[in-house]
Parts: sequence; C-alpha cells; structure tokens
Amino acid sequence: MRPFQYLAPFPSFRYLAPKSVGELLDSLEVGGEGSVVIAGGTDLMMALKERTTTPDAVIDISRLGRELGGIRKGGGALRIGALTTFAEIEASQLVDRFAEALKTAAANVGTLQIRNLATIGGNLATASPAGDSAPPLIALGARVKILSRSGERTVPVESFFRGVKKNALLRGEVVAEVALPAREGVSSAWARGAVRNENALSTVSVAVSASIANGRFGESRVALGAVAPTPMLAEKSSKLMTEGDATAEKAEEVAALAAEEARPITDIRASAAYRKRLVFVLTRRLIAGLLSEAGAA
Ligand SMILES: Cc1cc2nc3c(=O)[nH]c(=O)nc-3n(C[C@H](O)[C@H](O)[C@H](O)COP(=O)(O)OP(=O)(O)OC[C@H]3O[C@@H](n4cnc5c(N)ncnc54)[C@H](O)[C@@H]3O)c2cc1C
Repeated sequence: MRPFQYLAPFPSFRYLAPKSVGELLDSLEVGGEGSVVIAGGTDLMMALKERTTTPDAVIDISRLGRELGGIRKGGGALRIGALTTFAEIEASQLVDRFAEALKTAAANVGTLQIRNLATIGGNLATASPAGDSAPPLIALGARVKILSRSGERTVPVESFFRGVKKNALLRGEVVAEVALPAREGVSSAWARGAVRNENALSTVSVAVSASIANGRFGESRVALGAVAPTPMLAEKSSKLMTEGDATAEKAEEVAALAAEEARPITDIRASAAYRKRLVFVLTRRLIAGLLSEAGAA
C-alpha cells in the first residue's frame, strides 16, 4: 500500500441494494466476477481502502435481514442467518444452549462497535485463517448453506475454506445460513491466545465439543484456528478423544496430538513453536473445563 493510501478516494463502482434474495441472486448472476457483496463492511471496507479489491459493483445485502438474518431452531438444527451479527449471537439464548463455544467466540470478536456490524456470513466468506467463528462452528459440526440462482447446496464448514482468503463460493453464490445440530448433552468451549485481550487477531484459537457420560467421551471434535492456511478440524485428535476415557490423562494426550496436527507459520504475532505450544495448552484447558462441568474430574 502506498503512503496516505487511506486518504485517497475509492475508485468508483456501482452500488446496488437488492430488496429481496431473488433480486440479490439476479444481481450476482449479472454482475459476475466484478461484483462483491457487502454485509457489515468491517472487512470489505478495509479491502477497498487497501485496493486489494477493486470491484465494478458492490451489492449491499445489509437490508435483507428478514430473509438472511436471525437465529432459530428448526429441523433438529440451530440455524443462524448469514447476516446475524456477533452481538446478536452473543446475546442469543439458543446459541447459549446449543453452541456455547460459538457464543464465547462471538463475545471476543473485535470491539463492541465491530460486533454490532460484523456478520457471521462475512466472517466465513472472508476465509481468514484466524476467523474466530470457524473453529467453534467446525467443532460443533456446522454446515454452510449456499444459495444461487440454480438452487442451494450445503458444505461442512471445514470444507468451505480453500486457502488463505479463499472460500468455496462459485460465481453467483452467496452464503445464506450456517446450521449446526441442536443436540442436548453436547458441551463445547472455545479459547484463544492473542497479543491483547481485545481487538486483536487470534494468534491461536481452539474449540472443542463433546458429550460426556459414564466416564467416557461421546462423539468429540477438536478444531483449530490460525495454525494452518485455513481453520481446520483436528481429525486425529477428534478420533482419539471420541469414545475415550473422560480423564485428565486423555485430555493431555488429545492436546499433544492436536499440537502435532497444527501446521502453523512464524509471523509477526508468534513463532510456529509458540503456536504449537499454545494449541497444547488451550486444548488441554478446554477439555479439562468440559470434564469439570460434567463432574468428571
Ligand atoms: C477492528 C477490527 C477488529 C476485528 N476483530 C476480529 C476478531 O477479533 N475476530 C475475527 O474473527 N474477525 C475480526 N475482524 C474481522 C471482521 O470483523 C469479521 O471478519 C466480520 O465478521 C466480517 O463480516 P462483515 O459482515 O463485516 O463482512 P463484510 O466486510 O461485509 O464482507 C467480508 C467479505 O465477505 C463477503 N461476504 C459478506 N457476506 C457474505 C455473504 N452472505 N455471502 C457471500 N459473501 C459474503 C464480502 O464480499 C467480503 O468479501 C475485525 C475487523 C476489524 C476492522
């Protein structure tokens, strides 16, 4: 970026504000590669200022909250519309009941001002390796619902990411919703390490979900953020935890394997070795928390 780039006017683009999802899908189809969607704008405005995006048209979906927003339970799933903000997620009783890890992550995104604007759909579509909604959603087995003129499809959140800032959306597609199984008895937790407590990108984030009964873990998932080009499901750790003894020793083993599975880089925020250590510490701490909540440790 050139000095004083932030003071330069944006290159011009067309601004479209569809009044329905039908109109949105038409606009996306007609606009093609040169069109981008804007929801809360917390990432896109930065990209426009930095000229990493120079669209011909910006399609504002922020007024489609009736169709693309809201949190509800339906068909055995907790459904969160793409336009739901992190402030709404943090305040939702349904999220508190079925997706505690997501609630904690939402409460830690940016600042209050950011959480009032930033949407979950935008957080996923940005596809940052450090996006904070992804690990809890992956740990909770969530799927992304994608809409286009030719219909809808869903993909597991872990398959939605295709690389740093690359997602699985094809031309004409938009994120409509994210849905996760609404199961009683499944506990989940999220934690991150960052250089400051507030308004900092995660150096590492970890989310864990599990049911615990009769001294054993049921189906369990461990997900990691900021330690690979994309947020990831730690498959081997999840397998080791599932059906394992619900003990502190197992938590230690799972955490050690999660650190092995992480593929971090060294950058301005932390070294790769520090990140691996943090994965171990956070994973062990989260599982220990689930155990003590269940009265198992
Ligand atoms: C000061 C600051 C602090 C931040 N802190 C954090 C943090 O702690 N944790 C964190 O994870 N993030 C953080 N962020 C990043 C950001 O707030 C989130 O990624 C946010 O959730 C993006 O949502 P949005 O609605 O603002 O997206 P927008 O900026 O509107 O869009 C982002 C991208 O997603 C696309 N998009 C948006 N909605 C859709 C949709 N429904 N379908 C398809 N594509 C779509 C846009 O075209 C664009 O490419 C921070 C940002 C700032 C500026």
